Amino acid sequence: MDKLIKSIAASGSFRAYVLDSTETVRIAQEKHQTLSSSTVALGRTLIANQILAANQKGDSKVTVKVIGDSSFGHVISVADTKGNVKGYIQNTGVDVKKTASGEVMVGPFMGQGQFVVITDYGTGNPYTSSTPLVSGEIGEDLAYYLTESEQTPSAVGLNVLLDENDKVKVAGGFMLQVLPGASEEEIARYEKRIQEMPAISALLESTDHAAALLKAIYGEDDYKILAEENLQFSCDCSRQRFEAALRTLAKTDLEEMKEEDHGAEIVCQFCGKKYQFTETDLEEMIHDKA
Ligand SMILES: [Zn+2]
Repeated sequence: MDKLIKSIAASGSFRAYVLDSTETVRIAQEKHQTLSSSTVALGRTLIANQILAANQKGDSKVTVKVIGDSSFGHVISVADTKGNVKGYIQNTGVDVKKTASGEVMVGPFMGQGQFVVITDYGTGNPYTSSTPLVSGEIGEDLAYYLTESEQTPSAVGLNVLLDENDKVKVAGGFMLQVLPGASEEEIARYEKRIQEMPAISALLESTDHAAALLKAIYGEDDYKILAEENLQFSCDCSRQRFEAALRTLAKTDLEEMKEEDHGAEIVCQFCGKKYQFTETDLEEMIHDKA
């Protein structure tokens, strides 16, 4: 089971989340059959969304839209405050690696664009905020969003590592935030530590990567674990929801589906699940419209 650990420095001046999102990203890859770069871009977006959702209280939903102008198209994900996340990438087939190192490339294929965050507090009045993409690598884009849009100086590191068959080996990351009251001296010390931190991919490869991340963030400083929360890829789509959507179509559209296609198949874009509606189902919907 994937998990997110919430922690705070003993001084109360910094807080950090560390995440293991390996199963989440593995399931996303399986459901969407993504190739290497698309897997990493989608996976990083899911992790970013898990961080943003963990930042919310109550029963909220957070949608992240990474809207780039290059090969990936849009990456869309939705997470709730119970640890569920779902998402998809428009182009599942981007597969570009550096020849020398084999490193999967992401940023250049996201291109220019926006990092959009929509928070729904369940009041029916969602709040939308966005910042320009800084690099398209997602981690930096999230750090910029948190610092600029939410006015909380933040550092973020997240990544998805693939095995030799381009399957997900490990995925996760961290977010560190400066809290009000942090001294200049403390901020300088944490900044230096983050700059000198081993590469996120090296930390993720540690046997216990949550512990390795916490160690890299806090060094010799004392900290306290506040909470451990479970994370999972989970889609809340249902036959009822798609049926309700079909029922909003015009009667002529439903009649056309019945006559020409003898039914309807709807594929959930978030999880790939297929829902079949027979000719009889459509007939009933048409009948109810009359
Ligand atoms: Zn679904």
